[in-house]
Amino acid sequence: MSKLIGMDIGGTNIVCGLVDVQGSLIHKVKQPTEALKGSGYVFDKIGGMIDQLLRETNTPRTDVSAVGAGTPGFIDPERGVTLFAGNLKWTDIPTAEEIRRRTGIPTFIDNDVRMYVYGETVCGAAQGYEHVLGITIGTGLAAASVNRGHLFYGSRYMAGEIGHLIFPEQIPYTCGCGMTGCLETVASATGIARQARDLIRSGRSSVLREWFRDTSIESITAADVSKAYDVNDPVAVEVMNHTGQLLGRGLAYAVTLYSPDMIVIGGGGALAGERLFAPMREQLQQSVYSGYWERLTIAPARHIDDAGIIGSALAAGQRQAAMN
Ligand SMILES: [Zn+2]
Repeated sequence: MSKLIGMDIGGTNIVCGLVDVQGSLIHKVKQPTEALKGSGYVFDKIGGMIDQLLRETNTPRTDVSAVGAGTPGFIDPERGVTLFAGNLKWTDIPTAEEIRRRTGIPTFIDNDVRMYVYGETVCGAAQGYEHVLGITIGTGLAAASVNRGHLFYGSRYMAGEIGHLIFPEQIPYTCGCGMTGCLETVASATGIARQARDLIRSGRSSVLREWFRDTSIESITAADVSKAYDVNDPVAVEVMNHTGQLLGRGLAYAVTLYSPDMIVIGGGGALAGERLFAPMREQLQQSVYSGYWERLTIAPARHIDDAGIIGSALAAGQRQAAMN
């Protein structure tokens, strides 16, 4: 019983990995989620992916002590139920039981961002820090905190949704949650791309217009904005500065409430690196009491793609051990 399986069930892809008890990822498999085909279809697919993972690594099923899955949205980890996950279109789905029934392995679920930050805290960039605040910049923006090894959940497991802090004077966009001005409509990979497109549409000149002359500017991604930034494109520089500043202001609330000694930044949007982190740091420093700033370390995640798999595997291992 020396292995664990960790999973990241996202709106676009499911990634499933075999992890050892030290948190090293041994092998992973990935498939499109196809959430529109219904939760039963997705769980059957997960069962097949776990079979494939065991087969490809020659791992007997009896060697795996627990499966952990991180899923987006509001999760009840104690009952193993996905209460609401907008991008999977799941409401009150008994995710842990559905997976356990198809695999025969004890299964535990939790919110994907919490699992990502837990993974980075146990064996990533935040290892060794006692009070960790983590954010993931992806399709959306969310945070989690780990205090001396313990995840913070809040009432109804809803703590950490900093993507829905609103800045209505600076942010004109309406969010999927129904409010206008939510931080994640700009401070996300999606938001970075969207701001660049809107500036180009408003008539601003940009190298991106040249690069996307033959295709629609709709296909501009955050990675393209980073590339344009590197050739000093004024639109890209403005988008990164504006996004970084707003992220810094949002983080100021989180830093003041949680008093972390470490902020770890993950998700695909973290690949923007210093282009985004430099204006974010500058704004954060100006927006919090100096006592918080002086002892704060900020670093990108070590396992940008895999922290969620590692974290959910290790968390599941802990919970399974606690039951024995
Ligand atoms: Zn929102």
